[in-house]
Amino acid sequence: MKVLIAASEAVPYAKTGGLADVTGALFSEYRRQGIDGRLMLPLYRTVREHFVPVDTGLTPEVKVGDRRYKGRVWLLGEGAYGIGCDEFFDRPELYGTPQGDYPDNAARFSFFGRAVTAACESLGWRPDVIHCNDWQTALIPLLLKTSGQEVFFRETATVFTIHNLGYQGIFGAGELALTGLGPDWFNPEGIEFYGKLNFMKAGLIGADIITTVSTTYAREILTPEHGYGLDGVLRKRTADLFGVVNGIDTAYWDPSKDPLIQATYRPSDISGKAACNEALVRECGFSLSEGSAWEKTPVLALVGRLSDQKGLDILLDAADGLIALGARIVILGKGDEHIQERVRGFAEGHRGLAAATIGYDEALAHRIYSGSDFFLMPSRYEPCGLGQMIAMRYGTIPVARRTGGLADTIVDYDPLKGAGTGFLFDEYRPAALLECMQRAIRVYAEPGRWKALVPQAMQQDFSWARSAAAYVDLYRIAGERHGVRQ
Ligand code: ADP
Repeated sequence: MKVLIAASEAVPYAKTGGLADVTGALFSEYRRQGIDGRLMLPLYRTVREHFVPVDTGLTPEVKVGDRRYKGRVWLLGEGAYGIGCDEFFDRPELYGTPQGDYPDNAARFSFFGRAVTAACESLGWRPDVIHCNDWQTALIPLLLKTSGQEVFFRETATVFTIHNLGYQGIFGAGELALTGLGPDWFNPEGIEFYGKLNFMKAGLIGADIITTVSTTYAREILTPEHGYGLDGVLRKRTADLFGVVNGIDTAYWDPSKDPLIQATYRPSDISGKAACNEALVRECGFSLSEGSAWEKTPVLALVGRLSDQKGLDILLDAADGLIALGARIVILGKGDEHIQERVRGFAEGHRGLAAATIGYDEALAHRIYSGSDFFLMPSRYEPCGLGQMIAMRYGTIPVARRTGGLADTIVDYDPLKGAGTGFLFDEYRPAALLECMQRAIRVYAEPGRWKALVPQAMQQDFSWARSAAAYVDLYRIAGERHGVRQ
């Protein structure tokens, strides 16, 4: 089977969040399984600086609005391609700065969508399935039907994965001409969205199969609360909508081998985690409560994008209460300016009790995953979430809101049976988080229970093999439905 993954980010090349982990891991898993899987992403500045792209000499020309751009196809590794166009991608960031998105994102990702299909033609490689991811590649399923490429791609099915419905790629109606889709598409049945242009809708109406990254989220997005205005469109396609829970790269996220952590450990012997814990307490400059030792001081961590989605507001509102429980809080993240400011202010006002690093820091993330006791994900919504799975693998117990993939991957601790892998709460309120944390710290304070819970969480199977197999099945179904839809 020939599968093309089209994405705006993928590890190891470019990453701002979980999308990159998913696309990169799926691609590697297909290569490992001998599937002809290929990956295409934009050749950002960061990719050029950190990798050694090899010029294929292919220069597909792409029309964006009334201008023609010359793309250049670079080989990043076996089967992985970067599509270059310096005017669009030679910038410090992928999508924008903390002050806001790049103003020409509609043009940038119209270019990329069309360049992906043009690059396939230049390579003479006709995929059986193009797997598109999020709004940045959502135009592709419709473009294949309309852009003069219908013949080349007649047999090519499309799968569109929603990683986060909160980001739809909404632009002014005036940008329609950039997409290459004619005015016939600008209506509510097409890609119009309340007078604006919505890239994600192109994926939702054009793809043969739609997937999202957990089974709970697949149900949630059909409701007005989580549907962000697209629940109606999605409800029309319920028969083609599937949930596939993400995995994590268990070879990379492995506390028994991780070179970035203070000491390695495994479920059968977690003693190394204590050294990681102590090192993190030192690194964060945490003071210990009187008469307490660092082992008795629960360290609560949050690593993630600082966006409204992630529940920083209820966390910061609950923070004094959490500290009153004896906890220390470490936050690593990057994102919206107003949240960054609040997090920075919180850490500065609570020296010795809280620490924050604003920025993206892979090595620090490893030290936090291994060195903390609890991992906080009080998300407003969470399509899947990877942080909780990585945390569990490192024996760091998630405390999370029961939403989306968090509900699917964390089993709430049952004190009677001693079963479970974390702690869940329902209401999006600081008091609910605090109450849940109290429950969690009670278990932490009982060494017998705690020592049983940590390896239990570490032993969960979050490997990609299971998810990759589910996608391959869906590619087959997409192929069948594509045949019928022709
Ligand atoms: P999302 O995709 O919504 O950003 P996920 O939980 O699915 O959230 O994935 C986040 C991924 O990005 C995790 O691998 C997490 O460790 C990583 N990450 C997020 N922010 C940072 C940061 N500031 N520094 C290092 N890693 C980060």
